[in-house]
Amino acid sequence: MSSVLESALLPTYPATRVTFVEGDGVWLVDQAGKRYLDFAGGIAVVGLGHRHPAPLAAAHAQLDKLWHASNLYGTEPAQVLARRLSDRFGGAQAFFCNSGTEANEAALKYARKATGKPGVLALEQGFHGRTTGSLAVTGQPAKRAAFEPLLAGARFARPNDLDSLRSAASDDVGLVLLEPVLGEGGVIPLEPAFLAAAAALAEELGALLAFDEVQTGMGRTGSFFAFEQLGVRPDLITLAKALANGLPIGCLLVADDSAGAFQPGDHGSTFGGNPVVCAAAVAVCDAIDDELLQQVRTNGARLQAGLASLPGVVEVRGAGLLVGAELAGPAQPLVDAALDAGLVCLTSGPNVLRLAPPLVASSDDVDRALEILTEAAAR
Ligand SMILES: *Cc1c(COP(=O)(O)O)cnc(C)c1O
Repeated sequence: MSSVLESALLPTYPATRVTFVEGDGVWLVDQAGKRYLDFAGGIAVVGLGHRHPAPLAAAHAQLDKLWHASNLYGTEPAQVLARRLSDRFGGAQAFFCNSGTEANEAALKYARKATGKPGVLALEQGFHGRTTGSLAVTGQPAKRAAFEPLLAGARFARPNDLDSLRSAASDDVGLVLLEPVLGEGGVIPLEPAFLAAAAALAEELGALLAFDEVQTGMGRTGSFFAFEQLGVRPDLITLAKALANGLPIGCLLVADDSAGAFQPGDHGSTFGGNPVVCAAAVAVCDAIDDELLQQVRTNGARLQAGLASLPGVVEVRGAGLLVGAELAGPAQPLVDAALDAGLVCLTSGPNVLRLAPPLVASSDDVDRALEILTEAAAR
């Protein structure tokens, strides 16, 4: 049945063997009623777990009040969410859109308007999205090749390579755009010294420093924003994935000391700031407390330690519950074997197994996932 349904979808994703019909906490259920432990979290989206009661109740209540009014008028949930994110950042203004790539498009436009300079310095292996601007600054040539020419002015440095960073610099750069942990490019955490150098370089060039926290934000690395643990405060942050626990939303945050570039008419989004989604996102923000963040750090360390002794693992990297295990060979066979055994996980590049479970996963869940992976890796 599922293959008949799927045949009407454009084949932009690999053919899937599983169709999920229900989720509950760290669990997913397929059409046959089989249960899976979800260590993909919808690709680092379902941070609080499936059907978490807080965003569920908030979205339900807002569905009963008002679905949409347009950004020509105010709605309360968007205003409250902007305030929550500003408070977490320590003073910022928000623009809401519907996805990570749109958040990065907003950052590209913001930096262009603020600095007047078209160049963007980003990282090889970095990932910023699939629309043509975000794709142009994505450091993975295979994803770009068929769609060139894209937005001009992108330059790429190697992650954690200071010489490469300096030689990629140029006076026309108005935006330095980095993921604190490269989520799609192999789970590569950027070192504090590299980030400090990138911040100094941005300052020297008169460029804005943006952290793409679409994957690392919202508690994923054990702090609300990843930057809090890294000693560098960016001018811009982009968010999406986990912001509303699975409802579509993206956000550009502009630090108060970089404010003022966008004026009415410069940017917009029909659905951006949707009241139902923003109400859910406010509940997500309020659920990310110190206790949960501590649990993310503890269980992340437990997961990393367990993966290190898995057969075939060359290196384990990550931050909090964004964890990668580099294997000696391709990671997809292990992901497939784990799925058969009831564990959903991800790859990040060809050789890296990536795990991004709901932040609420317990230490028992972590141990169960490690057991399944150990069995699957031995096959
Ligand atoms: C997923 C991701 C994006 C793109 O988000 P979409 O919502 O798919 O457009 C951008 N940047 C990073 C770091 C991501 O992980």
